[in-house]
Amino acid sequence: MSRKLLLENDHIEGINTYDVYRKNGGYRSVEKALKSMSPDDIVEEVKKSGLRGRGGAGFPTGMKWSFIAKPDGVPRHLLCNADESEPGTFKDRYLMEKIPHLLIEGMILSSYALGANQSYIYIRGEYMYVLRILEKAIAEAYANGWLGKNILGSGFDLELSVSPGAGAYICGEETALIESLEGKRGNPRMKPPFPAVKGLWQRPTVVNNVETIAAVVPIVNDGGEEYAKIGIGRSTGTKLISASGNINKPGVYEIEMNISVEEFIYGDNYCGGIKNGKKLKACVPGGSSVPILPHYLVCKTASGQDRLMTYESLADGGFATGSMLGSGGFIVYDEDQCIVRNTWNFSRFYHHESCGQCSPCREGTGWMEKVLHRLEYGHGKMEDIDLLWDIQRKIEGNTICPLGDAAAWPVAAAIRHFREEFEWHVNEPKAALQVNYGLVAEKIFEPVTA
Ligand code: SF4
Repeated sequence: MSRKLLLENDHIEGINTYDVYRKNGGYRSVEKALKSMSPDDIVEEVKKSGLRGRGGAGFPTGMKWSFIAKPDGVPRHLLCNADESEPGTFKDRYLMEKIPHLLIEGMILSSYALGANQSYIYIRGEYMYVLRILEKAIAEAYANGWLGKNILGSGFDLELSVSPGAGAYICGEETALIESLEGKRGNPRMKPPFPAVKGLWQRPTVVNNVETIAAVVPIVNDGGEEYAKIGIGRSTGTKLISASGNINKPGVYEIEMNISVEEFIYGDNYCGGIKNGKKLKACVPGGSSVPILPHYLVCKTASGQDRLMTYESLADGGFATGSMLGSGGFIVYDEDQCIVRNTWNFSRFYHHESCGQCSPCREGTGWMEKVLHRLEYGHGKMEDIDLLWDIQRKIEGNTICPLGDAAAWPVAAAIRHFREEFEWHVNEPKAALQVNYGLVAEKIFEPVTA
């Protein structure tokens, strides 16, 4: 069973309230930091911990923090990215809902480290009930002197508020989030300049994910070196994983980053195996945007090593035989699932969420959705498979923000590993429809007439 650093107390009744959170050791990291540590000390501990961004990119947090200029009188901001919208990912929601004060505690530490006196939590619009939970917790933190002016007599001031998005996936991209927070349409900005130089209202800004900010609490409490002892190599500490799909025990798990994928899928402490005794067909280990792995590459790498739940091991083999840890949205598929339908479903999502600024993403996601739709519904041609491959290649790397890549990678991996299934949809369209939908195929297969 993995050690827990973030969800250690999630089972305690009332842990979402200030009194219970405080009784169980809450806010002691803030006392320690404001009484005995300088902002640079905290940055140093975070660097020592090896903490990497938990939102998807995995960039070292301490390094990201060091890009922001030293305080020079210009206001700077810490923005918490709580716009958790990646299909298959729901761990930040769980953390905020269950232990909202943990995020607030992490926001105080991180804001102090960065010299930010006005910080924001930007939360996705669909999480409105979580926003209410956070607002209540923030009010409790203000009432008990953890937010506001001169916190604990340290001279450090912090104003914290929570701001909802309007349900756009693209606002999880840091520059789109900044635009949205400024009250504009959430279109990603060209980089450079990076937010550390010109972010919110053109001021130095750091954007970190919910889980990343919460992880600063145990790092300050126990020290960066202790945190770095957990895990393997450059994958240090614990990671929250949202597990879903055809498994016996879907949910949010906190794992030490050294357990094997096999243990995670089949272990009783985690997913508990494939539902109804079926066989594993595939797995998307890091949210809908990362490459899908066929069953023979899920628990083992191409070189026969045990695949681990780490950044490095999940990426072993590059995109030819590997994938990514991404946001930790771990989706398991059993033998009955249709990869063409799943890929179409993902493509439909990315087409819908494209902001439309760049042509490869705006047009390409639309084309991929259309071609996949006709393959799925029995109108596909064999050339469509190569057409799909061509479209995704023209999107990847040719867009302003990573949404283009996120749309292209699942299509590329599905064709790479499951080409026969695409071909079967072309060769046996009625059979594919009947297997997938159990419908009278002829009715759907009829060409639509005006
Ligand atoms: Fe918008 Fe897509 Fe371009 Fe990102 S890649 S800026 S979402 S059009």
